[in-house]
Amino acid sequence: MLQIKNLNVHYGVIHALKDVNLTVNKGEIVTLIGANGAGKTTTLRTISGLNKATSGDIILEGTNITNLLAHQRVEMKVSQVPEGRRIFPEMSVLENLELGAFLRKDKNEIKKDIDHVYDLFPILGKRKKQTAGTLSGGEQQMLAMGRALMSRPKILLLDEPSMGLAPLLVREIFEIIKNINSTGTTILLVEQNARMALSIAHRAYVIETGSIVLSGTGEELSKSDEIQKAYLGGE
Ligand code: ATP
Repeated sequence: MLQIKNLNVHYGVIHALKDVNLTVNKGEIVTLIGANGAGKTTTLRTISGLNKATSGDIILEGTNITNLLAHQRVEMKVSQVPEGRRIFPEMSVLENLELGAFLRKDKNEIKKDIDHVYDLFPILGKRKKQTAGTLSGGEQQMLAMGRALMSRPKILLLDEPSMGLAPLLVREIFEIIKNINSTGTTILLVEQNARMALSIAHRAYVIETGSIVLSGTGEELSKSDEIQKAYLGGE
């Protein structure tokens, strides 16, 4: 579904991504793990068009989208949930969800999808009239994910959904990610929480200072000595 070929990204003189190659097949959860500053967010932002590639290609279902604008990529059903959530705090939960469907005109289907989001995240249904800024961190994360789903993405790009959440909530969010995937949405998940990410991912890539250094199935990487030492706190 998504192929990234020899992708390079610079911020001025900083070479943030170095010949990154990565594939996400239809129906998969693929995770990109790595330390702070390794280039995870840059990878997602370049896929969704918020950062420009210096060179390389991003291919979505056979179409080269490397030079498309961010909104054109949304039209092509690529949807990113940014790090730090970025919901609209003054607007209600429902209004935030409706905004996620801004490119769509199918009112009845939009209503159905809002109900689907409330099924996935019952707490959002309970709080639909509440202003989003008053939600807890976990609820805001759920709202950001729900909003992204409202564009009916083919591929959902998740940037550190576990950030700042209590362990119990982290588990809940990861269960929901599995759930979203099982209903047909392909997922690229960026995480510092390697343990949780590897536990739900079909395949994984490890990025260090802008380069992919390892890849394999979620299970293979969780067993790898290198990963144990560097990312899972093993000896
Ligand atoms: P984090 O977990 O902190 O989000 P990350 O793996 O997502 O880390 P990136 O945010 O992609 O890493 O950063 C990769 C590199 O690019 C880092 O060296 C970072 O300092 C640099 N960088 C990121 N954004 C910018 C920017 N806007 N301007 C300059 N350098 C940047």
